[in-house]
Amino acid sequence: MQIFDKLPRMALAHLPTPMMPLPRLSHEYGGPPLWIKRDDLTGLATGGNKTRKLEFLIADAVGRGCDTVITAGGPQSNHCRQTAAAAAIAGLDCHVVLGGDPQPPVGNLLLDELLGATVHWTPKPNRNARMWELANELAAAGRRPDVIPVGGSNALGAVGYVAAMFELVDQLRATGAAGPHIVFPTSSGGTQAGIVLGARLAGYEGRITAISIDQVPDEQIPDNRADERFLAQVAGVANDAAGRLGADVSLAAGDFVVNYDYLGAGYGVVGALERDAIRRLARAEGILVGPVYSGRALGALLDLAAQGYFADDPAVLFWHTGDESALHAYAHDLA
Ligand SMILES: *Cc1c(COP(=O)(O)O)cnc(C)c1O
Repeated sequence: MQIFDKLPRMALAHLPTPMMPLPRLSHEYGGPPLWIKRDDLTGLATGGNKTRKLEFLIADAVGRGCDTVITAGGPQSNHCRQTAAAAAIAGLDCHVVLGGDPQPPVGNLLLDELLGATVHWTPKPNRNARMWELANELAAAGRRPDVIPVGGSNALGAVGYVAAMFELVDQLRATGAAGPHIVFPTSSGGTQAGIVLGARLAGYEGRITAISIDQVPDEQIPDNRADERFLAQVAGVANDAAGRLGADVSLAAGDFVVNYDYLGAGYGVVGALERDAIRRLARAEGILVGPVYSGRALGALLDLAAQGYFADDPAVLFWHTGDESALHAYAHDLA
């Protein structure tokens, strides 16, 4: 695709990821034909959505002469695990700042260590400050660190999902599947910014609904318009990404649809919604979704289907963002 040619990109993902029907689940879930886009199979030390962002983020860091990357996330961060793997491929040192108290090395946290990342613990609200503090310490020691924001959700990261949307449109065209309603989890918003911008640039006309996985950022702000703040931030990232691509489009908060109805007991708290969704997909199709993001978003999709939310859509596409590597860390909650 020509618009991507001017940005440096490092091949990290196995692309295109498969897009396939879910025949048995389609039959039983009560909505139009159901498809899945397998970004759990991007292949970077298991897989996941951050791999597409990191193709642009890591290439940029290398291009600017950096020798170290710093990023942040939760204790079971898929983003940190994929960043650690990408850094290993690129020959960069990797530091991950994890919010919370030190935890036993299971799931993604075990993989971070196996992949050679240095783990730093800090209270969650302090993650950004700790990343910049580390960057200063490393720079003072003669290193050249690059700070990648939480979730890799800046303009360059979002470009990975603009490209992904073009990839999906090609696959839909090849299979003759009509513009499905796309459903996926959203958290730091870069994936959503890229998908919605990509849809606009590729002329995609199907609906797009993001399922919020965590409380919206800035939940402490007094006027309680955190949802609007989040959408303004996502639109800003999308518009910065459009600028990077030299595309003359502008998106507004109203171009993004986020559903906040499935937050349950909060980020990373597994409940019946996730437990049931994980089992239903596994038993109908032999595919695993994760406990924190994809399990919650699939649970939301199944519940929305039961309410008739997809009645006007020709099909539904679940975009699997890849977090089954966290399953074992939640074994106790999933049993
Ligand atoms: C990070 C992540 C998301 C959310 O993507 P954002 O770009 O941060 O909104 C969804 N699913 C999984 C598995 C993730 O790791």
